[in-house]
Amino acid sequence: MLKDEDRIFKNLYNDLGWDIDSAITRGDWLQTKDHISKGKDWIIKEIKDSELRGRGGAGFPTGLKLSFAPKELGSRPHYLVINADESEPGTCKDRDILRFEPQKLIEGCLITSYSISAHTCYIYIRGEYLREGQRLQEAINQSYQKNFLGKNACGSGWDLDIHLHYGAGAYICGEETALLESLEGKKGLPRLKPPFPALVGLYGCPTIVNNVETVAVIPTILRKGAKWFSSLGKPKNTGTKIFCISGDVNNPCNVEEEMSIPLKDLIEKHAGGVVGGWNNLQAVIPGGSSMPLLPKSVCETIEMDFDSLIKAKSGLGTAGVIVINKDQDIIRCIARIAKFYKHESCGQCTPCREGCGWMWRMLERMAEGEATYKEIELLYDVTKQIEGHTICAFGEGAAWPVQGLLRHFKKEIEKRSHEEPLIKKKSNIPYLIDQHLLEKDSA
Ligand code: SF4
Repeated sequence: MLKDEDRIFKNLYNDLGWDIDSAITRGDWLQTKDHISKGKDWIIKEIKDSELRGRGGAGFPTGLKLSFAPKELGSRPHYLVINADESEPGTCKDRDILRFEPQKLIEGCLITSYSISAHTCYIYIRGEYLREGQRLQEAINQSYQKNFLGKNACGSGWDLDIHLHYGAGAYICGEETALLESLEGKKGLPRLKPPFPALVGLYGCPTIVNNVETVAVIPTILRKGAKWFSSLGKPKNTGTKIFCISGDVNNPCNVEEEMSIPLKDLIEKHAGGVVGGWNNLQAVIPGGSSMPLLPKSVCETIEMDFDSLIKAKSGLGTAGVIVINKDQDIIRCIARIAKFYKHESCGQCTPCREGCGWMWRMLERMAEGEATYKEIELLYDVTKQIEGHTICAFGEGAAWPVQGLLRHFKKEIEKRSHEEPLIKKKSNIPYLIDQHLLEKDSA
């Protein structure tokens, strides 16, 4: 278990007060000016040495990402954009940072902006986080009143302004280039990369986009040292992480823990165990809805970090842990997730636009016991036609949960399937188009 002194987010449950004075008492804004005076290279090196990886889902090394921004300010301004569009089902960690630990984020914004030569920082927050946005705006105002933001922010000699921008509720705006489009006032459609935002980002200017949790831990890393941070967890999977545990557990919660904590400990010690006991566990989605599920046999020993979960053919993602016990229909659970992705696809790429609906319809029929054996292979084929063939990673996010189901619960689907299509259709799911394609395929 993480020791109390190693906890970064001491006010995760709002026992100690979210306001700026309480935050200062807890150690926020301490030595900020000194750290900035050590220079950009020192800050980026410390972050690289800490081995911090992005907390938004992809796990990209943060120090390396910051170093992609041009070293000197040219004719175009640089921007820092904070991705607070937390929309991944099963994830609500940034929400608690925004409302209970906003000063950690704001201080992180100042340090990070300085390290990439940005005088303007935008925080893109999901529209549904109305109250969290109001709280964050209050916290930003408090920072201005103390001269921690604005001209000569915190006495550092660096000027920084922070603007809060509300999204309008599209999941795809969590994808960094869609977020930038939306911030520019356009539809949130992902851009083709390259060019990458570090060189051509917001308004065509160098832009670094980082997740809330990633930026919020940076001030503590500088205060306590890269060595301290990298001593937690495992090499390349260092530090602490906020895990969100939901689903069939007795005590759904957010908890900050050491990276690489065993999944079983997380569920048993922090979330009050699986409803019906550990033996009633069916599967766990370890990193938000876009990550493939893990069956109980893997959950017994798996450690919660980027590399261990990749080895198990899943991913840490946002660390949104969704627990599914044996009372649930696992096919229906994944069909529900597929419906979500069908609804949220932006529609630019054919494989994603058509494939997401196709997967959902087949899964619905499988859940209803109306599918044929051939469709099981067809479903896998559709996931492979989507994966790697789209503009953005949404395609993978939609295909992977289905692949996880097929990998671990194929027998469950087979039990409900038939050789021939059922003559009498029970559900209302439109399937004629798929059936037609299937027949054509086998002809
Ligand atoms: Fe849009 Fe899907 Fe293509 Fe991403 S993968 S750009 S969400 S259609």
